[in-house]
Amino acid sequence: MTDRLAGSTLQPNVGDRSLRLQRKPDVSTTVSAHLELRDVSYTYPGGPQVLDAVRLVIARGQLWSIVGPNGSGKSTLLRIMAGLIEPVHGQVLFNGRALSSLRPRERARRIAFLPQTIVPTFGYVARQIVAMGRYPHVGGLGLESRRDWQLVDEAMAWTDTSPLAWRTLNTLSGGERQRVVITAALVQANELLLLDEPTTGLDLHHQIGIHRLVTRLSRQRGWTVVTATHDLNLAAHFSQHVVMLKDGRVVASGAPAEVLTCRRVEEVYGVAMSSLVHPQTGAPVLVPAELGTPSEVRSDAPGA
Ligand code: ADP
Ligand code: MG
Repeated sequence: MTDRLAGSTLQPNVGDRSLRLQRKPDVSTTVSAHLELRDVSYTYPGGPQVLDAVRLVIARGQLWSIVGPNGSGKSTLLRIMAGLIEPVHGQVLFNGRALSSLRPRERARRIAFLPQTIVPTFGYVARQIVAMGRYPHVGGLGLESRRDWQLVDEAMAWTDTSPLAWRTLNTLSGGERQRVVITAALVQANELLLLDEPTTGLDLHHQIGIHRLVTRLSRQRGWTVVTATHDLNLAAHFSQHVVMLKDGRVVASGAPAEVLTCRRVEEVYGVAMSSLVHPQTGAPVLVPAELGTPSEVRSDAPGA
């Protein structure tokens, strides 16, 4: 890739203004576990159980990925971590305190959640959408200050969305819209970023750019980042820790190379896998082992 995204525009410096504006973590409440889930179970009203006794201890500043088949509970788990829904059983601790004890505004200043499905707010231009990420931080009148707008413009430069600033959301492609809402999450959170399939729908250049940006922000600002994703190889490369869910249970949790083995992916996803070696990093790259020959694929076609 050209590195345009991951290079100059995506490099927030440690000494930059936005960093100074970010609220420092409250040292008095800092414990090694930034976010802890203790035997968390969840059932949607009238539905079956979708999370079953999930236990996770996420240290501050770590990059985690949650993987698992469709319906395995990834989005539900992120909503629980965001404090948007409360567990039916178990506890969620944020900096050692019950997450539910934080007031919504305080929670929104510290934790940003990017949902998998975005409700379109079509009347607004991209820059206004990003500025909405600053709402939990703005003063009593609800007007963004000059420094809020500086943060907005700076973050839009990182995500390559500055050229879209004055376009209304309905004129943007799905991928462009996605980058705009990711930018809103970046200006909102100052501790914990929860991203639900953030790069689905983005082209390769922007997928890698977003992962590299989030990694850099996490390192420089000490943010903890938890990302639900279907891209096992990008998860392996960009995370320090991977959690694999199946039917609402944690089937594996640990370093990417320990969790993302061919055997486990085969068991959980029901797809035979092969492992290749990445030519640059030397890390394993998992690919489906049995795609079928072109003639087999053609004979599978309806009416063949
Ligand atoms: P994933 O993100 O891994 O695809 P989800 O957390 O979205 O999984 O869903 C887990 C299970 O919960 C699925 O069976 C899904 O159908 C169900 N589910 C998700 N949202 C709701 C809801 N609002 N009401 C009832 N069931 C839901
Ligand atoms: Mg989901």
